[in-house]
Amino acid sequence: QRKEKEMRILFLGLDNAGKTTILKRLNGDDIDSVSPTLGFEIKTFVHGKYTLNIWDVGGQRTLRPYWRNYFEQTDALVWVVDSSDRIRMEDCKEELHSLLQENRLAGASLLVLANKQDLIGSMTDTEIREALSLRSIVTHNWKIMPCSALTGMNVPEALEWIVADVAERIY
Ligand code: GDP
Repeated sequence: QRKEKEMRILFLGLDNAGKTTILKRLNGDDIDSVSPTLGFEIKTFVHGKYTLNIWDVGGQRTLRPYWRNYFEQTDALVWVVDSSDRIRMEDCKEELHSLLQENRLAGASLLVLANKQDLIGSMTDTEIREALSLRSIVTHNWKIMPCSALTGMNVPEALEWIVADVAERIY
């Protein structure tokens, strides 16, 4: 049974996308941060009236089969993209669309973060929307936002969107 005002948010993406750096940027009253060894970290903090449990799971190819262990009761999926990594954009698209087939993620909101916007030559959020075929997604409530974990651009806004979208659905 769900605890009062608790949200479970899963951060995924290819390795090097910037997941860990974005998480470090998220401020809140940090109450707990656990770092087990097998390529994942759980960060728990209070944001307004909600307790957020954020799971950051490693994205290396060898770790991707383990992603499914973290799907249960996920309220929101944050798919982090390295906007400067054009070479792996196709891989990124395939991994995202295969994730969206997962039954256990069926109810989750999807936020795509086009990270590393500070790098010259990065793809824009509009380009990434095309490259990842986001408009074909009809199974999830989705949004794409450009951001930079380095400068902090749009990082608080991203969290606001997730919390508001999940709250509208489950509370
Ligand atoms: P993860 O594998 O998805 O957790 O990625 P990390 O958070 O470890 O970041 C991978 C690399 O990208 C690190 O060297 C970060 O410093 C760098 N990085 C992350 N976000 C940004 C960003 O917004 N801009 C730039 N220029 N570098 C970033």
